[in-house]
Amino acid sequence: MSNKNPGVNTICTHEGEIKDTTYQGVVSPLYMATAYAFEDVEAKRYPRYFNTPNQLALARKIAALEHAEAALVFGSGMAAISTALLAFLKKGDHVVLQQTLYGGTFNLITEEFDRFGIAYSFTEGWKPSDFEGCIRDNTRVVYLETPSNPLLTITDIEAVSALAAERGLITMIDNTFASPVNQNPIDLGVDVVIHSATKYLGGHSDILAGAVAGKQVYIDRILKLGINLGGTLSDYTVWLLERSIKTLGLRVKAQNRNARKLAKFLQKHPDVARVYYPGLKSHPDHELAKKQMKGFGGMLSFELSDGLDAGAFMKELRLVKPAMSLAGVESTITSPALTSHSLLTAEERKAQGISDGLLRFSVGIEDRKDLVEDLERALQKTAALQDK
Ligand SMILES: *Cc1c(COP(=O)(O)O)cnc(C)c1O
Repeated sequence: MSNKNPGVNTICTHEGEIKDTTYQGVVSPLYMATAYAFEDVEAKRYPRYFNTPNQLALARKIAALEHAEAALVFGSGMAAISTALLAFLKKGDHVVLQQTLYGGTFNLITEEFDRFGIAYSFTEGWKPSDFEGCIRDNTRVVYLETPSNPLLTITDIEAVSALAAERGLITMIDNTFASPVNQNPIDLGVDVVIHSATKYLGGHSDILAGAVAGKQVYIDRILKLGINLGGTLSDYTVWLLERSIKTLGLRVKAQNRNARKLAKFLQKHPDVARVYYPGLKSHPDHELAKKQMKGFGGMLSFELSDGLDAGAFMKELRLVKPAMSLAGVESTITSPALTSHSLLTAEERKAQGISDGLLRFSVGIEDRKDLVEDLERALQKTAALQDK
C-alpha cells in the first residue's frame, strides 16, 4: 500500500491485497493450488509451508493490524497457541501463565505439558507482581490474556512485558478478546501476539482460524515448528478470512459502542447485581484499560440479582442467542457456570468469582434499541418467575 500511515479501516480493506493483473478484479484472486511449478529449487510453495499467495497476503494484513513485522495464519486459535508456545519451550523449561486463561489453553498446558517435560506456573492474580513472583531461573515465556474471560480483568501489558524483557523472557499475549482494533500489544512491549481468528477477525461465526504476529525472528521460529506440526489454514478459508477482515474496524467499533451503552443500561437495572466491563468507571482497572486500549471491546459479563435463574433468563431471550462462541456480528450469551466452567466444583467456581447468575455477553452489531428491548423483556419475565 502506498500510504505512509494508513488508518485501521484502510489497512483492513487494502493491506496485503493481491493485485489481479489478469482481469483487474478489485479483490484478491484466490489461488487454490497445492502444487506450484519450480521457479527455483530453493523456494517451494506449499500450503503447509504457510507460503501460498493468499496465506502471505492475509499474513501481511494481520501483521499491519498488529503493528508487527510479520505474521502467520493457522487452522485454529489453538493451532496458533500451541505452535507459538512450543516454538519457545523445550524439556526443562518453565512458562508463567496468567491464571484466568481461555479453557482450551488451560487444557493444553495441564493435559499435555507434563509429558513434554515443560514446567508451568499459573499466577495467583493478574498484577505484575503476581507474574514476577512465578518467574524461576528456567522460565522462558510469560503468557497473558487481557481482557480476560469471563470477568474482563485487565492486566498491565506494559509492566508485565517490561519485567519479562529485563530477564530476557519472551512475552506472549492472547489478544482475541480485544482484537487489533482495540489493543496493539506490540506497541506495549509484547513479543508475540496470538489470535483466535475464529472470533473478531472472522466475525461472522463461520470460520475457524488462528494467527500469530511479531518480529520476523520470532515468526521464523514459529514457522519452523509450524511446518512440522502442520496446522495451517486452507486457502479457501484464508480468502474468506481476508474478506471478513475488510469490515473488522467497522464491526468492532460498532460492537464497542453497543457494549458500552448496554453495560450502562444493565448497571442501572434493578434485576442486575453487577456488570463487568472495562469501559465502566466502576471497573477496578478502568484507568489502566483506558491507557492501554483504544476501545473497550464488545465483551461484557453481568450477574443477575440474587435468586434470578440464569438458565431461565437465557430461554426468555428472543434476539440474543445462547451460544458458546463469541465475537460474531450477532449477539450471543452464555452461562459460564453451565458451560465453560461446569466441570469445576461450586467451590472452585466461587473462588474464581464465577457465580451461578453470571452471564457472558458477546455484543453484536444489531440496533441497540432492539437489544435493550430483548434484555428488558427477558429480565422482567425472569423476575416474574421468581415472584411466583
Ligand atoms: C476461542 C478462543 C481461543 C481458541 O481458538 P480456536 O479458534 O477455537 O482454536 C483462544 N483464546 C481465546 C481467548 C478464545 O476466545
